[in-house]
Amino acid sequence: MRIGVPKEIKNHEYRVGLTPPSVAELVAAGHEVVVETRAGSGIDFEDQDYIDAGATILPDPAAVFAAADMIVKVKEPQASEIALLEPRHLLFTYLHLAADKPQAEGLVKSGATCIAYETVTAARGGLPLLKPMSEVAGRMSVQVGAHYLEKEQGGRGVLLGGVPGVAPAKVAILGGGVSGVNAAQMAVGMRADVTIYDISNDRLAELDMFFSSQIKTAYASKAAIAAAVKNAHLVIGAVLVPGAAAPKLVTREMVKTMKRGAVLVDIAIDQGGCFETSHATTHEDPVFEVDGVIHYCVANMPGAVARTSAFALNNATLPFALKLANLGAEAAMKADPHLANGLNVSGGKIRHQAVAEALDLPF
Ligand code: NAD
Repeated sequence: MRIGVPKEIKNHEYRVGLTPPSVAELVAAGHEVVVETRAGSGIDFEDQDYIDAGATILPDPAAVFAAADMIVKVKEPQASEIALLEPRHLLFTYLHLAADKPQAEGLVKSGATCIAYETVTAARGGLPLLKPMSEVAGRMSVQVGAHYLEKEQGGRGVLLGGVPGVAPAKVAILGGGVSGVNAAQMAVGMRADVTIYDISNDRLAELDMFFSSQIKTAYASKAAIAAAVKNAHLVIGAVLVPGAAAPKLVTREMVKTMKRGAVLVDIAIDQGGCFETSHATTHEDPVFEVDGVIHYCVANMPGAVARTSAFALNNATLPFALKLANLGAEAAMKADPHLANGLNVSGGKIRHQAVAEALDLPF
């Protein structure tokens, strides 16, 4: 198969769909890879690295889309990329369609087959292609939360870990999945006072075993969340209902009760956000304030640590990319029902039930 890697064009996105080591694996399996010039230069993968891995460098996205049957990307296609998609194309990337109707309609119109990283499943449960980025975003959420709690950043002037004789900051993590656990690991490492809220009792039990006395767990009832938000210095939104828009767990009224200079980090913003007061921001302008509370709502947090993220993402996507390239989309999805769960759009239709329901589009 001919596989194409365009340069990412979303604001401050430096990751790349395939790293040079991944290209070498695909070439060794007998495939042809075309890469847009400077596709990886933002994270120090130069054209020569791709040439050494066996790729051909092409001058622009139009040339890459024209030459390739499968397009491997990181972020959802932007309007200029959707315009290049044809029915013969297989698009393998993050889509996050549930909160993005214009993109969904564009992909439906293109006729292309679109497999979304975020809805591919795993035999042992979970979302294996979301996992590495959730790990990154979870770990980063505490780093950025600590930063914006600093007075100079408009924060409350509170050190997460406190010091001897001064209590540590209270960190409330909503959602104890992959990103929530990774956030907790960092917050515990910084000696904060951490509580994780979830609606899955099984998950709460696992977290209790895993962290022992290092954290507290609580069932995520409305009352528990209201109390947590009121007392917290840092609230991290890390919930997910797969394929659907994030539930709005924290209302505008709850934000009004928060401490001045407290920080909200809405990791779930890529699914619409779990705070009513959230709206998506970029790395260029990452925060805004509502009622004296700092909101950090960057939809592509892993982009800030793009080199780590590109390697982590490729570790997870490469086995699937190889399967798709070796067998073709149809046979690969037939052979692997978990890969088939990634199918969001094909033949001019939405093919994922939760996505169709979230967008109120036919399935
Ligand atoms: P996950 O499935 O591993 O965990 C989600 C957790 O939320 C689960 O434990 C689930 O039980 C819990 N949950 C669901 N509904 C809840 C509710 N009403 N109250 C409390 N808990 C609830 O998901 P994840 O991989 O950690 O991803 C979390 C979010 O982060 C997703 O929206 C994902 O797309 C997003 N994400 C964002 C970025 C970014 O850059 N902003 C990067 C990676 C992931």
